[in-house]
Formats: sequence, C-alpha cells, structure tokens
Amino acid sequence: MTKRLRVAVVGYGSGGQATALLLSRDGHDVQVFERVAQPGPVGAGFLLQPVGLRVLWELGLLDAALAHGVRIGRLFGETAAGRPVMDMRYAELDPVLFGLGLQRGAMFQLLDAAWQSGRRLHAGSAIASVDAEAGRLIDGGGNVHAGFDLIVVADGSASSLRGQIAPAVLDRPYPWGAQWCLVDQAQWPWADELRQRYVAARRMAGMLPVGTRPDDPVPKMSFFWSLPSAAMEAVGDAPERWRDALKAVWPEAAERLAATAVPHGLAPARYRDAMHRRWHRGRAVLLGDAAHAMSPQLGQGVNMALLDALALRDALRVCGKVPEALAAYQAGRRSHLGVYHFWSRWLTPLFQSDRRVAPALRDALFHPLSRLPGGRGQMLRVLTGTRCGWWGTVALPAAFLDRLATEVRRPVELHAGA
Ligand SMILES: Cc1cc2nc3c(=O)[nH]c(=O)nc-3n(C[C@H](O)[C@H](O)[C@H](O)COP(=O)(O)OP(=O)(O)OC[C@H]3O[C@@H](n4cnc5c(N)ncnc54)[C@H](O)[C@@H]3O)c2cc1C
Repeated sequence: MTKRLRVAVVGYGSGGQATALLLSRDGHDVQVFERVAQPGPVGAGFLLQPVGLRVLWELGLLDAALAHGVRIGRLFGETAAGRPVMDMRYAELDPVLFGLGLQRGAMFQLLDAAWQSGRRLHAGSAIASVDAEAGRLIDGGGNVHAGFDLIVVADGSASSLRGQIAPAVLDRPYPWGAQWCLVDQAQWPWADELRQRYVAARRMAGMLPVGTRPDDPVPKMSFFWSLPSAAMEAVGDAPERWRDALKAVWPEAAERLAATAVPHGLAPARYRDAMHRRWHRGRAVLLGDAAHAMSPQLGQGVNMALLDALALRDALRVCGKVPEALAAYQAGRRSHLGVYHFWSRWLTPLFQSDRRVAPALRDALFHPLSRLPGGRGQMLRVLTGTRCGWWGTVALPAAFLDRLATEVRRPVELHAGA
C-alpha cells in the first residue's frame, strides 16, 4: 500500500507499542490513545520466545533486548516432592534457539524509546467507543477523534471495545489468576532456567531470571504465584499464611520473597479467555490480547501480540486496500494461533485449578510423554511459538538464526549480568 494512512492505535501495551513503531516507520501517520495517564509496564517479567525475538530483530531492537535480558535454555517444573513434571530444552529442537527472560520495564522502554519520529501519544485518554465504519473514536470525556483510515484496537485481555468490532465467540474470566513481582537475582542457582514448583494444580510458584532494565543495572527475577482470583483480596488478611504456603512449596523462593511486602509488593493478574471468529470490521481491527486473550500458561501473549503487529504491517504493505489487508492479517494470524488457544484451554486447568485427578495424571505422564520423540517435538514447537496449525511450522529467517547462533556462542554469565 503506497497511501499514507491515518492510523489510531488504542492501547500502549506491547502490541500497541510495536504497531505504532512498525506503522510509523512505514510512513503512516500514527496516533496512540492510552487510558493510563503515565504509560508504563504492568507486571514483572516474561519469557520472550524465538518468534517474539524475531520481531525485535526486524525492529532493530534485538541487540538491546539481548543486552538486558537473560538467555533461558530450559523450562523445568517439578512437584514439591521433587518429581520432574516438565523438562524442556530449546536446544533439543535447534541448538541456536533459546528464550529470553526480560523485564516488562526493559521491553517497554526499548519500544518506547524507538518510537520517536512523528510520535503522538494521547496518555490518559480512555477510549469508550469505536465507530468502525466512520473511522472515529470517542473517549471517556466525550471528545471525538475522527478521520482515521485504520483503527487498531489493542486494549488488552479485558478489552471493553472488542465487542464493538465483532462479537466474541468466547469472552470469559478464568477463575484463577496470579500474583507476581520482581526480586533480586543475586546468587540464584538456576540462572538460565525458568523453574516452577507444583502441588497438584492448587499451588504453583515460578521463578524466571529477567536481567536488567536501561534505568536499573541490578539483575532481577520474575516471581509468579498462582491462586484463585477470588482469594486475592484475602491475602492481605493473613500474609504469614501466604508465606508459609510458599515455603511449603518452595523454601528457596520463600527466602527470596522475605523482603517483599505481602500483598502490596505483589501485582495481581487476572486472566481471560477470549476468541473471535472475525477480528475486523470496516476500518477497525483487533490486535494482541484484545483479539485472542488466553491464560499465560504457555507464555505466548507478548510474542503473539508482536507477531500480530508485524503481520498487520506486512498485510498493509502488500494489499491495495485496508479491508483486504485486514482480511489477510486475520487469516494469517488465526491459522497460527488456533493451536495455542487449544493448548492453553486444555493445559491451564492442569496447572491452575482445584482438580485432583487431572494434575495427578499430569505428574505421572507429562514427563515421560515429553521424552517420546513425537511428544517432545510438538511441545518444543509450541513452546518456541513456531508451531503453526497442528503440523505446520513458522519459518524463521536465516539471518535472524545466524544472529542467535552468534549469541549462543557467548557464555551465559555475560547475559545474566551477575
Ligand atoms: C502473570 C502473567 C505472566 C505472563 N507471562 C508471559 C510470558 O512469559 N510470555 C508472554 O509472551 N506473555 C506473557 N503474558 C501475557 C502477556 O502479558 C499479554 O499477552 C500481553 O501483555 C498482551 O499485550 P497487549 O498489548 O495485547 O495488551 P496489554 O499489554 O494488556 O496492553 C493493553 C493496553 O491498553 C490500555 N487500555 C485498556 N483499555 C483501554 C481503553 N479503553 N482506551 C485506551 N487504552 C486502553 C491498557 O492500559 C494497556 O496499556 C503473561 C501475562 C500474565 C498475566
């Protein structure tokens, strides 16, 4: 598309940030509307998969992300009694692949600093309604923002706008959520692993090294604690009980949390499942969690939002008209995402629920199944974000893989910043 479009992006999370940057760089006139008065990261840290790293590579931000993040080679989960449940190593799929533990703040700052040219960010502007046919937004104060050729709705998993673009097939809160925070990494023994501990599906703790941020050189880890959403409020009534529960699951993690205020030092996270058959109408399109919210069990949400942004840019480049581009974007992204929705819905109750039988089967079967060649390949493909549909794969560019190969040859200590 050669025409310069007037684009509105609603939401300045990872998906909105990447979209604003990619479309501005293609010469479009982009304005972002963000509800929060001082936009910034929400939550602690996350795992960026090879497909997400590929988008940062396209944006020219991979080196900076690698400088701050921590190369993660292995995902290891065990019961509190020490029985392995999950043991996945990226190198078993391809020796150059790895995940990158990254602070939310690092990712936010990298994307934010890169979007300077023609930047128009309306912070503190919560959009209340979208007129997809007219290309018009109305914010909570009643102000009308009109004349857009394209409106990208990237307002996250609890999107209040998704139904205005297309009815959701599914849009419901998940009964379990999480609390998460950053803690100092210091001498943590598993510097290049995402580690998790489980007690059935009732209790789950995770620790992921996530490195540094541009404004803070102290390496951190992202801590994750699963609990029913309905129980979150009550944690403040009995913080010692919370600490005892964590200690029973994972004493080393409880030690790391000793200086963290409970519950105020922990950010609450609630999940939603949302699915749309159609992602676009008129001039408006859904992107990121607004289009396909799922539990973070597979650790894919940021990666998928980044891929959405790249796919939208590419569709706009090759299609002559906006509606054609939106249809091409939806078709490409839905064919990739379907299998992640499926696994997310099946796996989440095995890790976060009150069920008893399913987690017992998980403890008995998950690890042996993941050792079978077919099972291992499938799990690793899903983990890396490179599974497309049931059997297809997402091809990663050779030059990007060469860059990862260079990185893999560097010793891990250099990344951990320890
Ligand atoms: C505990 C937890 C762990 C996770 N771990 C991982 C992981 O390891 N790897 C991974 O890839 N993903 C992970 N995720 C998922 C990931 O965080 C999300 O999928 C991702 O942030 C979605 O990005 P987004 O841009 O679509 O939405 P968000 O990042 O939620 O951004 C939405 C933005 O829209 C703004 N907004 C909302 N409503 C309005 C409005 N009406 N008007 C204007 N602005 C509005 C919000 O303020 C926000 O800034 C995790 C999630 C959780 C909760």
